Amino acid sequence: MKFIEENCGVFGIYSTRPCADDIYQGLDFLQHRGQEYCGISTFDTEINHITHHGRVATRFTGEELRRLTGMWGIGHVSLRDRQPMKWLTRAGEIAVAFSGNVINSHALLEDMMNRGKSFYKGYDIEIISKIIIEVGEGDIVRGISALSEKIQGSYSLAVLTGDGIYASRDLYGFRPLILGGDSERLAVSSESRAMQNMDMEIIRDVAPGEIVLINREGIQTLEQLDSPRRAHCAFEWAYTASIDSIIDGVYVQEARNNLGESLAQRDIDEGGMVADIVAPVPMSGMGHALGYHRRSKISYQDVFLYNRYADRSYTQITQVAREKMAKRKLSVLPYVKGKKVVLCDDSIVRGTQIMNKVKDLKKAGAKEVHVRIACPPLMYPCAFGISTRSGGELLARKHVKTDGILSMEQLMDLESWVALTLGADSVKFNTMDAFVASLLMPRDSLCLQCFDGIIPSKAL
Ligand code: SF4
Repeated sequence: MKFIEENCGVFGIYSTRPCADDIYQGLDFLQHRGQEYCGISTFDTEINHITHHGRVATRFTGEELRRLTGMWGIGHVSLRDRQPMKWLTRAGEIAVAFSGNVINSHALLEDMMNRGKSFYKGYDIEIISKIIIEVGEGDIVRGISALSEKIQGSYSLAVLTGDGIYASRDLYGFRPLILGGDSERLAVSSESRAMQNMDMEIIRDVAPGEIVLINREGIQTLEQLDSPRRAHCAFEWAYTASIDSIIDGVYVQEARNNLGESLAQRDIDEGGMVADIVAPVPMSGMGHALGYHRRSKISYQDVFLYNRYADRSYTQITQVAREKMAKRKLSVLPYVKGKKVVLCDDSIVRGTQIMNKVKDLKKAGAKEVHVRIACPPLMYPCAFGISTRSGGELLARKHVKTDGILSMEQLMDLESWVALTLGADSVKFNTMDAFVASLLMPRDSLCLQCFDGIIPSKAL
């Protein structure tokens, strides 16, 4: 898949033993959220701090981890910039890392620069840090609270100080943030899989608008700001999060299976699907294809072999590089010859990659390829840090010019056009109602803006 261009993961831990190895491990379990940069900060009378261009497992050395002394610290993986950022403040040294997007960054930068503030590059993390430092005047909670007034957009963050680790989520809870621990450690993470795989228990999600402090006293809620509504990114369950995570109480795997099942149910309701196999586009279509198989009873069979040594395609800078990498990433299994295939994936952005997959299958002799997409058509660029794509690049937007939720008639018209464009025998998306029902979450607790254009109120 391809949609995500700006994303990241945060991890922090307070431990009874040196914490650098645990942070390294936690970040490794969040690596799918960003592969361009990684960084770790630990506290041990002062902040030790190392960032790298590249992945955690290949860039951090044993020697560096030994230099990152201390029992508590935070880390970050990113597609966009180096974090955490370290600062010397009235509250002593602090380090800040966040996941999200500051939409009003230009206005905030202009305002701060007019007041004499300087910036390294004007990254969102600099803006967030400077608000915490400037407004907080040494009080980290006051500084984090101020973000809810000043920042338009999304943030889940961790702030490392001599007091411990402060963690917070914006008022809407766009990006996930979860707490976990065991008898010796307390942790905060963008995704639960880090806790699960590090033998910690999940404690709970950080609530939208909550500010917690994690230290030797445990996990304390220092402030709970009023949250006008929840707006969890629906895309987390469909694609972004790892399938073994639990986000805001919903298993990602269950949500993906449900999305696949509802696609199969739609085929059943509309006359049935005659096919030999249902297959995923690895890895993003796996949970969806399994759900489709369960409901349709059509055999589940891989049609692509995943090359684990190729990079994820969206990290490549040019379209040509992305396509070459996508080709390296998946090779067709010759078994598809003569088969009618239902091919499942999470979403269609530009359509280039799914079009290439359909072509590859047909070239290998597949008799029919029916594309089934877990998300409704993407109609608007994400305003909250998941993509910088313009609306014009979205495939569905090339055909549908009207705003608002698509009627069934419009959806089916779009599906016929997309099938023709991709060279597929048919294409179907989940309807918005089926999509929301599959996520097991009330509609008004979700952000669905990239599908319906409705921005959760006050968030912008
Ligand atoms: S617009 Fe889409 S991708 Fe962006 S936060 Fe909302 S649901 Fe997620």
